[in-house]
Amino acid sequence: DKGLMWFRRDLRAEDNAALYHALKSCRQVWCVFVLDTEILEPLLARGLTADRRVAFIRESLVQLDARLRAMGREHGTEATGLIVRHARARDAIPALARQLQVQAVFANHDDEPAAHARDAHVLGQLAHEGIMFHGHKDHVVFERREVLTQAGHAFGVFTPYKNAWLKQVDSFQLKPYPVARYAASLGALPGPVGGEWNAPVPRLSDIDFEPIDPAQLKMAPGEKGAHQLFEDFVQRIDRYHETRDYPAIKGPSYLSVHLRFGTLSIRQVASVAYQMHLQGMAGASTWLSELIWRDFYHQILANFPHVVDKAFKPEYDHIRFEQGKHAKELFAAWCEGRTGYPLVDAAMAQINQTGYMHNRLRMVVASFLVKDLGIHWRWGEAYFADHLIDFDLAANNGGWQWASSSGCDAQPYFRIFNPVTQSERFDPQGKFIRRYLPQLANLPDACIHAPWQARELELVAAGVELGKTYPHPVVDHAEARERTLLRYAVVKKPN
Ligand code: FAD
Repeated sequence: DKGLMWFRRDLRAEDNAALYHALKSCRQVWCVFVLDTEILEPLLARGLTADRRVAFIRESLVQLDARLRAMGREHGTEATGLIVRHARARDAIPALARQLQVQAVFANHDDEPAAHARDAHVLGQLAHEGIMFHGHKDHVVFERREVLTQAGHAFGVFTPYKNAWLKQVDSFQLKPYPVARYAASLGALPGPVGGEWNAPVPRLSDIDFEPIDPAQLKMAPGEKGAHQLFEDFVQRIDRYHETRDYPAIKGPSYLSVHLRFGTLSIRQVASVAYQMHLQGMAGASTWLSELIWRDFYHQILANFPHVVDKAFKPEYDHIRFEQGKHAKELFAAWCEGRTGYPLVDAAMAQINQTGYMHNRLRMVVASFLVKDLGIHWRWGEAYFADHLIDFDLAANNGGWQWASSSGCDAQPYFRIFNPVTQSERFDPQGKFIRRYLPQLANLPDACIHAPWQARELELVAAGVELGKTYPHPVVDHAEARERTLLRYAVVKKPN
C-alpha cells in the first residue's frame, strides 16, 4: 500500500514520528510540503513581503529535499525527494492523495485552532475517498491531555505541571524514531526530473516574496543549521542558569526557530538535557525547564483554546486599555524603538533587525507595552507574531498573557517591571544597549539606562541631544505604574 507524508512544522527527515510511521507501514511513500496560500497570502496582504520565516522555510525545504533524495539513493531508489506545492493545503493534499492513489496520509499534530480546522477539512475530504488520515505526536514531548492533575484536569499552573511532567518522562518517550531504517519505502517521484512532480523547491520570488540572502537570516536553516547550533549550545549548557538572563551574553540556545519549524527534534534535545539534569547539572535542569514551559503552553492552547482571542482568566477581559490616537502614537513609538527607555528601544531594534529577541527582553518590552503604555497585550502579541522568526502561537500567547497578568500562572498584576532597574540589573554595562543604539554608545555606564537623568555635561560629552539624537521618555514610569494599578483594580471586583 501507498502513503503520503505531509510535512508541516516538522521539516526534518531524522527522528520524525509521522515519517517513521508512514515508511514503516507503507510499501511506497511520497513526501509533500505545501506552501499554503491560506497562511502566506495574509502575510503578503500585511506587507510582510520580505519575511525571514518564509526564507527559513524555503532553505530548510531545499535541505529536506536533498536529504530525502540521498536517503532514497542509499536504498537504491532514484529520484525520491520532496514534492512542493504552492496552493491551499486543504485542497492540495486531498488532490495529491487522489492523484497518487495512496491509501493513507500521514502528518504530525499541529494543535493551533486554524490547523485543527484545516486538518478536519482535509480528513473529511479524504474520508469521502476512503483514504485514511493518521496524525502523530511529534512537536512536543507530552501533548494535549497526556499530563493531567490527579483529578484528571489539564494543568493551569506551571510548577505542578512540571513536577508531573518530570514524573512521567522516561527514556522511552525521548527515544528517536529510526526513520532511516525504513527509507527503502521512499517512493520515486512520478514523471521526469524537472517536470511537474519533480521540480526544484520554488524560489521566494516564485511565490511573490522578496528574496532574502540566507546569510542575512543570521540563523542557519535546516537540519544542518539546527545540529550546528545545538552542538555549540551543549558546550555552554552547564552555564545556562547563570548566563541566560543577560542579553549581551551568548547564554541561551537560539534554537527556538528550529524547534518551531521542527528542523530539530524536541526528543533529541530534551533527552540530552534530561540526562544532564539527572547527573545534577544545574544549567541543564534550568534549560529542561524551559522545554517544559514549551510543552506547558502547547497543552494550554490545546485544552483552553479560548486563549487565542481572550484572557485565560476571564475577569481580565474587563480591563479597559488605551485605544485612541495617543495610544496609537505610543504603540508606534514602541514598535519602532522610540520610547526613550534604552533597554526597551534596543530590544525592539533587535527584533526589527534580526527577527529574534532575548527572552528577558521579551518580558521587559511586553510589560512596558501593557503596564507602562496601557496598551492591550493583543496589539503586542500581533506585532511579535508578524516579526518573530520563532513565532509560535502557543508560546507567544502564553508569554503575552503572562506579562499582562491575564494568563495561567502569570505575573501578579501589581508586580510591574521597572524598565530602568531591569536594565541596570541585566545589562549593567549597557553592552546590549550600545550594540543596538549606537547613538548612546558614548554615555557612561551609570547614565545609559536612563539618559534623561544624566547631567547636561555628560550628555554633551557623549554627543547625545535628548529630543534630537535620542527621544525623551514617552511616559513617566512612576505615574504609569499608578495608572496601571487603577486600571487593573477591576479584576478584583469582576462585574
Ligand atoms: P532558550 O532559553 O535556549 O530556551 C530553549 C527553548 O525552550 C526555546 O527555544 C523555546 O522553544 C523554549 N522556551 C523557552 N522559554 C519559553 C517560554 N517562556 N515559553 C515557551 N517556550 C519556551 N517563544 C517562542 O518559541 N515563540 C514565540 O513566539 C515566543 N513569544 C514570546 C513572547 C513573550 C512576550 C515572551 C515573554 C516569551 C516568548 N517566547 C516565545 C518564549 C521565549 O522568549 C523564547 O522561546 C526564547 O527567548 C527563545 O530563545 P532561545 O531558543 O535562545 O531560548
